[in-house]
Amino acid sequence: MIGKFFIYNALEAHFALMEVDKNPHCPLCSAKPEITSLMGYEQNIDRQDRACDGVI
Ligand SMILES: [Zn+2]
Repeated sequence: MIGKFFIYNALEAHFALMEVDKNPHCPLCSAKPEITSLMGYEQNIDRQDRACDGVI
């Protein structure tokens, strides 16, 4: 499921699958990543909003 976003609405028992383009400027998984090691929370919180999946 790489490049896909799966949504499940439990209230309506509805499923949806969306294609998600990779962010070429992602600080985590781009060709030249800014993040290459684990850091403290404060150091990564500003970068988290720019990551493709919002998770670092
Ligand atoms: Zn990414």
